[in-house]
Amino acid sequence: MNILTIPISSISVDGYEYEECTPVESIQPPDTQAVAVDTVSVSGRFTKFRDTYTFRGIVNGTYHGTCCQCLASAAVPFSVQVRWIFEETSGSVLREISRTEEESEYLSPEQVEEYFSKSAQERVINLAPYVWEEVVFAEPYTFVCSEECKGICGHCGANLNKHQCGCEEKKASQQRIDNPGLAALAKFYPQLAPDKDKE
Ligand SMILES: [Zn+2]
Ligand SMILES: [Zn+2]
Repeated sequence: MNILTIPISSISVDGYEYEECTPVESIQPPDTQAVAVDTVSVSGRFTKFRDTYTFRGIVNGTYHGTCCQCLASAAVPFSVQVRWIFEETSGSVLREISRTEEESEYLSPEQVEEYFSKSAQERVINLAPYVWEEVVFAEPYTFVCSEECKGICGHCGANLNKHQCGCEEKKASQQRIDNPGLAALAKFYPQLAPDKDKE
């Protein structure tokens, strides 16, 4: 039984504040591909209405990958608002109302039964499958280390976030030389010459 399992006895009519953090491996279903996330945190509130339990909260985590522009490691956090409604269907485990049909499409009844852990002695809500699903959906298409990432110099391969290799400037001054019209014009306006020539 994983840490994201909540005995419904702890959810009173006044509701129940819930906050938990767990390694992603602990909620990963068997035969699924691992995700590049270390831990996932869930926080929010359970409320109870008759035989129905609602969880409203946030699922947080961070994906780790390689920046597609500079190839450094990139951390991309995610934060997903969730609202899950559970009702008791059979036995000791509660199922989420809206997902039950969907799940049975790609899991055999035995797998569903096993995954939702029929060994529970107490009536529980197991958030793990829903949290796992949010983690999988939150995977970014591309990783960027930061919005300001300058990438890699196409000429010398330097990481431009770490240092300026100077290739762009060399190219720019080369272009001035290659352009006789502009160079000739520059002679008439020496005060407009780039600052670095004065150094
Ligand atoms: Zn980058
Ligand atoms: Zn360069």
